[in-house]
Amino acid sequence: MILFDDSIVSVFRDYGIMLPIAASRAQKIVDHLGEASFSFPGPVLDMKQMTDFLGKTGNVIERSDIERVHSVEYVNALFSDGLLGELLNAYELIDADGKPNRYEPENAVQPLSALFDKILAQCAGSYMSCAAALRAESGHFCYFLAGGNHHARYDTGAGFCLINEIIIAARKLQAEDGIRIVWIIDVDAHKGCGSAELVSFMRNGKGPAPFEKGCNIFTLSIHMAHGWPLDAETLSNSRPGRAPLIPSDVEIPVEQGDESCYISRLEDGLFKLERLSSGVKPDIAIIVDGADPYEYDELLSSALLRLSLKQCVDRDMLIYNFLRERKIPSAWIMAGGYGERAWEPPCHFLKKLH
Ligand SMILES: [Zn+2]
Repeated sequence: MILFDDSIVSVFRDYGIMLPIAASRAQKIVDHLGEASFSFPGPVLDMKQMTDFLGKTGNVIERSDIERVHSVEYVNALFSDGLLGELLNAYELIDADGKPNRYEPENAVQPLSALFDKILAQCAGSYMSCAAALRAESGHFCYFLAGGNHHARYDTGAGFCLINEIIIAARKLQAEDGIRIVWIIDVDAHKGCGSAELVSFMRNGKGPAPFEKGCNIFTLSIHMAHGWPLDAETLSNSRPGRAPLIPSDVEIPVEQGDESCYISRLEDGLFKLERLSSGVKPDIAIIVDGADPYEYDELLSSALLRLSLKQCVDRDMLIYNFLRERKIPSAWIMAGGYGERAWEPPCHFLKKLH
């Protein structure tokens, strides 16, 4: 099953945010899949069809879902006049001198605060993709052609991520769908630092509600060894008392030029994730399937990892087969991918499934 809905894709330029994100990325994937998408891994559902399929009504993501993950103070800011400041911070739109940074509000056609509705819709999309993957009718597979906000930390947004939609989805599954163990397999070029922090805090009783008995989330992140966060010190100090960045349970930093070892290191990491789960099969795996490790990605900050198209597809097939052999449902979130060719890795992966 594929979840695709152009109406929830954030066209950053409309809000004055100048990022090289091709608005047509998801549409291009669907166009290129063509007939292939009508059988497995299809069908392609939009948000309305997905809510109908799952029997959901009203707002899928409520404030209480965010409160399960982020600090009270931060959630209060998001739902008040503090929202604008939090958006400026999360999207890094003001530099250290207080000047706009790749931010051109004079060219915006929408107020920046309107972006929050899109972010909530994408969060709903990620959660519903997981809920769909739990259903036999989906073949226990759902690919969401949007989403991927994985940098947001306990009390602050970061790295273009206002809220951590991955952990919000995972915790909602545990609270409402009888899910106990979740794996997060994050292959975005940028490390899944926000997800790692939130899971660590939940395990250690710091901040977010701790895991219920028998529940856990295990995180794997394979990413550029350097280059993210852009300025670790600034990020750590962005709030008083900030915790330093916390590694994922399985942390795989890849050095520049070591791309040939990427697949074997990922495979080792998947086995390690399995051992961490102590023989308990996860109820679901969420894959943060960034295309920004692709060699033709246009974002400067993802340039230190340059996988070929074949390596990107091999990466996804390795994860897909690993999970399928173990009958673990999988929800794939498209995540990072910048520039005119960012549609290619997810598209070629999905085509290969046909
Ligand atoms: Zn990324």
